[in-house]
Amino acid sequence: MPSQMHDPDSATSAAWEHMEEVHHAPEPEVLLPLVERARLAPDERARVEATALELLADLREGQRTGWVNQFLQEYRLNSSEGVALLSLAEAFLRVPDPDTADRLISDKLGDGDWRSHRGQSHSQLVNSATWGLVIGRALVGQQEQANALKRLISRSGEPFVRQAVGAAMRMMGEIFVMGRTIDEAIRRMKKPENRGFTASFDMLGEAARTFPDADRYFESYLRAIETVGKARGDGTTEENHSVSVKLSALHPRYEVAQWGRCVPALTEMLEALAEAAAKAQIGLTVDAEESERLEMSLDIIEAIAGLPSLKGWNGFGMAIQAYGKRAQRTIGWAEALASRTGRSMPVRLVKGAYWDSEIKHAQEMGLSDYPLFTRKAATDVCYLACAKDMLEAKSIRPAFATHNALTAATIIEWAPDKRSFEFQRLHGMGEGLFERLVRDEGYRCRIYAPVGGHRDLLAYLVRRLLENGANSSFVHQLADEQLTDDQLLADPVDKIVAVRGTRHPSIPLPKDLFMPQRPNSQGLDLEDWRVLKRVKEGIAKRSDIGPEPDPVTDVAPSIDRASAAFPDWSALPVEERAGCLIRLADLFEERRGELMALAVHEANKTIPDALAEVREAIDFCRYYAGEAVEKLQPEELPGPTGESNVLRMEGRGVWTCIAPWNFPLAIFTGQVVAALVTGNTVIAKPAPQTPRIAAEAVRLAHKAGVPKDALILAPGGPEVGAALTGDPRIAGVAFTGSTATAKKIAHSLLEGEDRPIVPLIAETGGVNAMIVDSTALPEQVVADVLLSAFGSAGQRCSALRLLLVQEEVADQMIEMLTGAMDALIVGDPADHETDVGPVIDDAAYEKLMAYRAAMKDRWLKTLDVPEQGRFVPPTLIRLDSMDDLTTEWFGPLLHVATWRSGKLEETVRRVNAKGFGLTMGLHSRIARAGDLVEAKARVGNLYVNRSMIGAIVGSQPFGGEGLSGTGPKAGGPHYLPRFCAERVTSIDTTSAGGNAALLSLEDVGLGL
Ligand SMILES: Cc1cc2nc3c(=O)[nH]c(=O)nc-3n(C[C@H](O)[C@H](O)[C@H](O)COP(=O)(O)OP(=O)(O)OC[C@H]3O[C@@H](n4cnc5c(N)ncnc54)[C@H](O)[C@@H]3O)c2cc1C
Repeated sequence: MPSQMHDPDSATSAAWEHMEEVHHAPEPEVLLPLVERARLAPDERARVEATALELLADLREGQRTGWVNQFLQEYRLNSSEGVALLSLAEAFLRVPDPDTADRLISDKLGDGDWRSHRGQSHSQLVNSATWGLVIGRALVGQQEQANALKRLISRSGEPFVRQAVGAAMRMMGEIFVMGRTIDEAIRRMKKPENRGFTASFDMLGEAARTFPDADRYFESYLRAIETVGKARGDGTTEENHSVSVKLSALHPRYEVAQWGRCVPALTEMLEALAEAAAKAQIGLTVDAEESERLEMSLDIIEAIAGLPSLKGWNGFGMAIQAYGKRAQRTIGWAEALASRTGRSMPVRLVKGAYWDSEIKHAQEMGLSDYPLFTRKAATDVCYLACAKDMLEAKSIRPAFATHNALTAATIIEWAPDKRSFEFQRLHGMGEGLFERLVRDEGYRCRIYAPVGGHRDLLAYLVRRLLENGANSSFVHQLADEQLTDDQLLADPVDKIVAVRGTRHPSIPLPKDLFMPQRPNSQGLDLEDWRVLKRVKEGIAKRSDIGPEPDPVTDVAPSIDRASAAFPDWSALPVEERAGCLIRLADLFEERRGELMALAVHEANKTIPDALAEVREAIDFCRYYAGEAVEKLQPEELPGPTGESNVLRMEGRGVWTCIAPWNFPLAIFTGQVVAALVTGNTVIAKPAPQTPRIAAEAVRLAHKAGVPKDALILAPGGPEVGAALTGDPRIAGVAFTGSTATAKKIAHSLLEGEDRPIVPLIAETGGVNAMIVDSTALPEQVVADVLLSAFGSAGQRCSALRLLLVQEEVADQMIEMLTGAMDALIVGDPADHETDVGPVIDDAAYEKLMAYRAAMKDRWLKTLDVPEQGRFVPPTLIRLDSMDDLTTEWFGPLLHVATWRSGKLEETVRRVNAKGFGLTMGLHSRIARAGDLVEAKARVGNLYVNRSMIGAIVGSQPFGGEGLSGTGPKAGGPHYLPRFCAERVTSIDTTSAGGNAALLSLEDVGLGL
């Protein structure tokens, strides 16, 4: 965790503490002081407006030449064609095989209305691209045109469409990317179109997933610095090109939980880069990335800024994101750092490039509030307030990165002089905005210039554009003919004042995500090192988890008690039973620390897994409570007049719930509360490995108001389960565990002639596959594979067991995967750094290790693990054929096999043929591949372009079919009815004194 940054005497430390106050503070609170800072006096506003109108005119003029702007104008991102085209560009260049490339083209171009774009643009280039797309659409879109396509293929030797699209994509690459190499980029900066501008080059690409990738990025940054240094002119550092660096490219685990490892390593690498930049006398700026990384980056920046070896060099800078609530305070921090170290520091103010993914992430984490603003105008206000601070700061050299004419005009108004700051813009964007200012008026502007191979870079840049292509963005609004200049240039301060700084109404707080149905379970910001530290210490303190509850020896008395309790419990109004669940959820939330500690110490859960475990249990309680109250009410059904028909959903009797050790609180609670809220009484048997956490759950349920005899804990092994399910008084069984045990239970429920036929809800395992085609993004695949296969040490029913990679990209994908495995940490689950903990018990360990040893000649990769403890080394095992795996191995053992292009359907069929049907993953950029797999896969949960684990209650109801379970799905709308007896009462109302309703009908429709 943090090292030197907490020198209590340092000015930066004070600024640091300040930052915490606003990190998750309510938006109005944060905005209030910013609004005052950003407010323009009426005369200022008039001048700003006039300048902005001039800039707008420049920008519009620039649009006539800027290809990207033309493109955006013609293919706006809210048109399906615009999105289709960019999606094609995102994936096309990395697809090696013609067959898949054609499918991708057909997928993306197939549905667009390209004809309507013919000849619409001012740009010849855009128009010719459109013509290519019209032709492409005609060729790929219709069956009868297939012959024409074939004729063309045979005539030209290579498919015409693919060739044309390939050329268009390369053209796009040139537009977005300054150069494939740093030399090429420097040369291009000398062209007339860039006259007067400087550049900051970035060797951009995806975040590194492996150490060799990180080394490669480091080398290319270093080379770039040296080359830019050699090419530098005589001017000052400011007057020369610079280099920007993304720390996520330099370490595969740039994560708060890995602070102790990644921060020192990154500091060392950045130090080397900074020294090289100082030697070359050029600037080096650290880009701003996701907000959870802010503090780590500050720690690193602080360490570098203070280095004596860099004395005299004023080129070391950083970027700050105005969409973050901590923005203004980060500027205070930077100013304090710069003045303390006696240097002037370039600071680039940006709005922030990860807005939507950060909002989503905060929602997933269940944070108390967002670390970012939720309204575009709030970001604009913050940007202006920060700009003012920067312009007034003594030790900061401001750089304002924006394509927004109003933002730029305000800065021009406030800046003391033209040379006291620089503007910055992205290569390929905002052309025209700054040309006049730079060439005629003496302002400075730097172009942020991505450098690298188009194949990797185009995908990255287009994704950024798609992710940030919100309609609220200035360059997009500019292209909207419906918007007037007044609307475009409306004062953001006015907008924020009008709504009193409140959060965007369509972006609920994470805790209100599921309202009005239910509150979301509260999360913990484990990406805040203070929280992580506190949680870790709390868990360590609670390592003594006490004795196990005694196993039961005779279940009969428990069944007697639960049977006796049934009539009263089932007779309670559903609202009262649901009330118990809601109170239980609150109790779980209150005792989250203890429950997490139990999950870690008893079930070997890692810290994030333990948190997820408790949150899921809470979500189950609240979700089922809501479902029960809404759906278990008596329902009047239609019928002939003079009759009343009412359907009631009632408890069946005593249920047995048998839970697994891998979700000892979540699944245990889910089963139990579902049975309870539907009016049943429950005997709950936890797994023998995890009885303590179950006992605690039951204790809390009693505290929440569930009568002691309505919920009885029955700890013990298989014999207890067998005794329970074998008792004819049991009215239903909810079971999660192995397929073999589920079958045994099913048999036992049928034994005995007199035994009623009772329901069994079984959730079992699966041989879960993930299918990856050649359009998938390797970095994303690898991250999702690691999580799905090795997270929770592979001990999830949903875990990935069989990775099926398209042959053409298998080598590359496997190389990245094995490299990324090297960055995994196997160890004590109570340690915050641990990714993979031990397996649950000796039996599991021995079974997995024996199988792993038997497959030794097929290992592609395995990891070293601590000697002490039941650590099964995460291992990647190559199979000759995907059919070779027929058994579920419940641990961190991942199998990989390949499939051939064009055989997607057959691949799904072969996976189906295994008989399991729990989860399946697909990574593909071809939407029709998703449709096909959805139509053909016989699985309960299909995950596309994401990991395969972590189903959310109410969002991703979970459960399988075939050998994987009976359904219905836990956390879904059809779960509760399966616990109920459905009873209908029909009453003939005419037989008891006539049909009053019929007799009293008034005449209607007679026009009287
Ligand atoms: C030279 C340069 C370097 C850059 N370096 C970085 C960097 O290091 N790190 C980084 O993250 N980004 C970086 N960016 C990207 C930058 O963050 C912005 O995405 C981009 O500049 C858009 O801002 P704008 O003023 O041009 O456009 P505008 O259209 O005025 O603003 C768009 C921005 O507003 C914000 N926004 C949109 N909707 C909302 C909403 N509902 N609530 C709150 N905010 C919203 C987002 O930040 C979005 O990007 C850089 C940009 C440039 C030009």
